Amino acid sequence: MGGSIISDLKKLVGKENASDNIYERISYGQDAAQPDLEPEKIPVAVVKPQSTRGVSEALKYANKNKIPIYIHGAGTAFKGSPKPKRPGSILLSTQGLTSIEEHEEDMYYELGAGVNLYKLEKLLLSRGYLLPMTIGSKFSSTIGGAVSINTVGHMVDICLGKIIDYVMGVEVVLPNGDIIETGTRSIRRPAGLDYTRFFVGAEGLFGVITKVRFRVIADRKKAYVVGFFPELTDVAHAFQRYYREKLPPPLYGEVLDKVAAEAPFRLRGLGEPKGHMALAITISYAQEEADREAQEMVRVFKSENAIDAHVVTSKREQTDYWDARDNILNILQASEGDEKLVMAGALESSVPLSHLDDVLVYLQTGHTYRALKEAKLFIYGHIGTCDLHGMWVAPVSMPQAERMQIAKEAVQLEGDVNLMWGCASGEVGQTASRMPFFKKRYGMAAHTMLMNVKKAIDPNNILNPGNLEGEGYE
Ligand SMILES: Cc1cc2nc3c(=O)[nH]c(=O)nc-3n(C[C@H](O)[C@H](O)[C@H](O)COP(=O)(O)OP(=O)(O)OC[C@H]3O[C@@H](n4cnc5c(N)ncnc54)[C@H](O)[C@@H]3O)c2cc1C
Repeated sequence: MGGSIISDLKKLVGKENASDNIYERISYGQDAAQPDLEPEKIPVAVVKPQSTRGVSEALKYANKNKIPIYIHGAGTAFKGSPKPKRPGSILLSTQGLTSIEEHEEDMYYELGAGVNLYKLEKLLLSRGYLLPMTIGSKFSSTIGGAVSINTVGHMVDICLGKIIDYVMGVEVVLPNGDIIETGTRSIRRPAGLDYTRFFVGAEGLFGVITKVRFRVIADRKKAYVVGFFPELTDVAHAFQRYYREKLPPPLYGEVLDKVAAEAPFRLRGLGEPKGHMALAITISYAQEEADREAQEMVRVFKSENAIDAHVVTSKREQTDYWDARDNILNILQASEGDEKLVMAGALESSVPLSHLDDVLVYLQTGHTYRALKEAKLFIYGHIGTCDLHGMWVAPVSMPQAERMQIAKEAVQLEGDVNLMWGCASGEVGQTASRMPFFKKRYGMAAHTMLMNVKKAIDPNNILNPGNLEGEGYE
């Protein structure tokens, strides 16, 4: 050792698993959002260890030499969490960790952190299991990234639970290179201290997750419902009523406002949407039960002004509506006339059920952010789990500074909503961008406590440094 960083890394993880190629360094240094990686923050090397031992070697080296190291699953997070915040860093990709061990007799799979979610979903379905998460970026994202964020994406948490409910334990490499295991191999979770929770949802602050023991559950029968409403608040009222009536939580409850629905409808030749669109999927072990719940959903939709609400039995209709929703991010960023549109700002907020309607009105007309008011807004999201999204798009020709202003105001508005209604965010994972909000919501004592925990586990602050500090977002 003692050569250049890249030559040292090549010796540690194998020369084919470390690169200082400028294209790789830039592409791994970005996330899925704005291409705004500052030149001095481009990582000096990218490492892709093929084993836990390799991850450990890379971390030992970074720790000894106090080199910042950023963990990268697939880099699909879109508010900067996997992006280097400090110069001279190493980018550690988990994409080489793709082992899959099936332990069906003990109801779990042991998965390498780099296993792709889509591949995993297909594998589990072929074995009769349901992957209890649907993340919009599943074609690229990794299980390690999802577990690190603790997100189930489009699914309703109160139906099947959050990722933490499925993680029986993890293998983690600590910042000093030590390899530890947490949790259990039993379906009974440990009582008392279960330090799996330190790592699930920690977004790589305390260690690199290298393996996940993931509990599997049998697939369920499903029924599909669509509704169209004259007012966006009607959709909120429908879900408020559904839960008030103590009906079983659906697996999905989605909304697309009319403007957002127009583009995918056009693309599929479906004509004009009849109104703001709500989609739901009910589930049960028995088809009759899922169907019965779907009928209840239709009844509730109709009682809250739906222009049309029905159970969707045709495969073609299911594909049309659900693809419209699932691909919304890509479709809305496509084009308007000759202008290509891109996402400039995004908001994600999980609001209290009783205020779903108030927040929708606030997003549309209530706030006073100038750049957001001038940009085109689409509202969509997981209304059945009270998780609302706003996306502001801008023509690609808009100057970068103006686009960044929209991005900044969207983050501020998200913080305002969360503060006003006492909530937090429920997915996506954005430690750095959310820090100003975090400090206001939970106070400086809470932030200091987290900084102290980080310092105890990572005294040289090498893992994802700058995220907990909110660097770039203050
Ligand atoms: C089109 C699109 C749709 C999306 N839809 C959703 C959605 O529905 N719901 C949602 O929640 N998010 C969504 N996202 C955001 C993002 O894709 C997800 O949150 C995803 O889970 C991130 O996974 P990843 O493997 O890309 O992780 P990355 O983006 O690479 O990393 C995310 C964070 O976790 C850390 N990390 C990654 N792997 C590990 C590991 N093994 N150990 C420790 N830390 C690690 C990283 O350092 C980073 O802080 C979407 C993004 C896009 C582009």
